[in-house]
Formats: sequence, C-alpha cells, structure tokens
Amino acid sequence: MTQALFRNARIWTPPDTGQPARGPLQARVLSWDRGCLLVRDGRIRAVGGERDVTRGLHPEEVEQEIDCQGRCMMPGFIDAHTHLCFLSPREKEFQARLEGADYLQILEAGGGILSSVESVRSASEEELFARTRSRALSALRAGTTTMEIKSGYGLALEPELKQLRVIRRVSREAPVTVVPTFLGAHAVPPEYRGRGDDYVDEIVNRMIPAVSAAGLARFCDVFCEDGVFSPGQGRRILEAARAAGMGIRLHADEMKDTGGAALAASLRASCADHLLAAGDDGIAAMAAAGVVGVLLPATAYSMRRPFAPARKMIEAGLPVAIATDCNPGSSFTESMPFVFGLAVMLMGLSVAEALTACTLNGAYALGLAGDAGSLTAGKRADLVLLEGETPSILAFHAGVSPVVDVFAAGEKVASKELA
Ligand SMILES: [Zn+2]
Repeated sequence: MTQALFRNARIWTPPDTGQPARGPLQARVLSWDRGCLLVRDGRIRAVGGERDVTRGLHPEEVEQEIDCQGRCMMPGFIDAHTHLCFLSPREKEFQARLEGADYLQILEAGGGILSSVESVRSASEEELFARTRSRALSALRAGTTTMEIKSGYGLALEPELKQLRVIRRVSREAPVTVVPTFLGAHAVPPEYRGRGDDYVDEIVNRMIPAVSAAGLARFCDVFCEDGVFSPGQGRRILEAARAAGMGIRLHADEMKDTGGAALAASLRASCADHLLAAGDDGIAAMAAAGVVGVLLPATAYSMRRPFAPARKMIEAGLPVAIATDCNPGSSFTESMPFVFGLAVMLMGLSVAEALTACTLNGAYALGLAGDAGSLTAGKRADLVLLEGETPSILAFHAGVSPVVDVFAAGEKVASKELA
C-alpha cells in the first residue's frame, strides 16, 4: 500500500451525484482554497480541506508529499470524442476552404474524408501507431487523461481492424485511458458508392461480429446525416452493435436536423454528438432519455460555423459534455484547454459549467464515471495542476496550455518542468 498526499492545492471539481450533471447542477462545483488530496494505490482516498483530509493521518503512513504551491487542481480532462487515429492532417484543404472552396470543390480536388481513408488503408500499422501515439501524448501534456478514439478511416473490415488494433496499442503503451469506438459507418466507401444499404449489410453482417469477437471496441458510432447514413440505417447498425455487446452513440444533426437526436433518445444511446442543428424536440427527447449531448466547438471554429446552442441545451436539462473532435479535416486540435476556452468565451458557458462539461459529463458519456471525471473518493487519481488559481485560467491564458503537471492514477505522467 502506497499513499501520496497532495497539499496546498486550490481544488476545483464537479461533485458526482451518480448521474450526469444537468440544468443548474451542471454549474455546481466543490472547491477548497487550501485543499488536500490523499491517494492510495492510484485511487483517491480523501479530498477536501487540509484539516479534514489529514485528521487522524500519521506522517509515516504517507510515502510521498506533493506541495502544489497554491496551484489549481482539477480532474484530468475527459475527451469524449476524437478521431485521433489518422495519418496526416489535410492542411491544403483547410487552406482552400479559407479561400472559399466549397465541399464539392474539395472532393473534386481529391480532398475530404476519402483521402484520409486512402492514406489509412495504405499506411503500415507501425506508422499509424507512431502518429496516433504522438497525438495522444500531446493531448496528455495538455491535460487529457481519458480519451475516446474512433476508427472510421478504414471503411472495410481489415483496415478498420487495423485502426482498432492501433488504438488498443496506444491504450497499452501511453499513460492515458483510451476508450475505443468502432465507426465503420463514418462514410460510404468508394466501392459502395450509390449502394449505401449494401454497405450497411456489410457492417451489420461482417464488421460488427468481427470487431466484437476481437474485443476491440467498447462503443459503436454512426455518422447520421443527410447523404451519409439515414436514421433508419443508423438504427439498424446500432441495434446490431448493441446486440453484440457494444455501447452505442451517434454523430447527430451536425448540418441539418435529420432526426439524429430523436434516434439517440429512442435508442437510449450513451451520447449524441455535434447537434449544431438539433431541434428543440430532439433535445428535449435526449434530456428525457438521459442521453449526454457532446458538443464539439473546435469543429464549428475550424469550419467557421455557428456553435451548437449550448445554453439552450443546458436550460432544457440536457447534460452537456465538450470534446475536441480531433480529426484530420474539420477539427485539427487535441487541446482540451482550447475547447474549454471556446465553451466559455463563445458558447456562453460559465467556468463551472465548462469544467463539468470537460470532465464529469464526458466520463458519463463514456460510461467511465465510476473511475474518472471528478475528484471523488474511490475514483482513479487522474488530475492536472494549472498555473493559475481557478479553471478560468484555461480560457484567460488563451492559445497556450496552462497545464503544468498531469497525474494518472496518482503518478506524474507529464510535466512542463520535465519537458
Ligand atoms: Zn466526429
């Protein structure tokens, strides 16, 4: 049994009441000015004011003492939506878009998602691993201790399995908790152009059973959007995935209200993501069904689009999480401090609401709240120390990461001082 005591921290954490925080509860945080956190065998044993935590504690019981020097301590970020497993960002396409190119012109120039599919299909597993791991470590240095990573650039059985093996290897070889998601339904691959239903058959009959047999994915996701997969196709895929033992989630109502939010509610998915165009009925149905709304402000930023109506969602009682959507086209950032800043400055969330969105509600979206997402006794000691006194520094000190130290299961895994 090893114990470590973090002292002299300004602790900020959402409380965990056993369910995702919604409505006014999303703004509830616990904070201690001279806070203390006691860790035993990688788990939080106690958190609170110094006197409470150290009462009855004998100095010889504590093997290591960490003076946090008055810095803000908060839970490690939970990035609940990433496409981190890709080869290269599509920078030329970003540039073309800034100069006014539209989606079709980009496709005609060989850009768009299918160019990422081509490069992932032809990449060696080793190279794909090296690139994915390096991005995961970059996210970790910016405070992300848990991240979801999707497949979805293979769009055929073998390359999808290759991506999922790479994701598993990242989870084993980087000190970050990784949640793997199978996203074979990210787009219709070129071999199936005009035959979307046949591709859905392939996903349901071959891909889901193979992914499930290999134990490579905790969730299955579908890109539900006009011209990609319809709500009917999404339902077929997600019902098959659930029957195969996977959790389910969707990309829903990003460009248009196509009924994705309503589908997520009727399937009681863990979460539905994007939701820029979700209508009031869809949001209300999700709130009633306990589905977490995962908002991705860096995508709106990168595409120069309006942000999802986060305030309206919180007021409608929808638990809101915020994630990066890190991907090679529409959101090339693995920085949770950046999306935290966007949420506070441009989506109208309070600092407390954004803190909950980037930690606790993300953990609920991933089904990991028993282990992560808040500084609560019994959970894993995944936490970050910031260079400021409150999490507002994440929005205030813009464009850089104020994250100084990152701890996973009580061990220091990244540090500005070690860098
Ligand atoms: Zn996505």
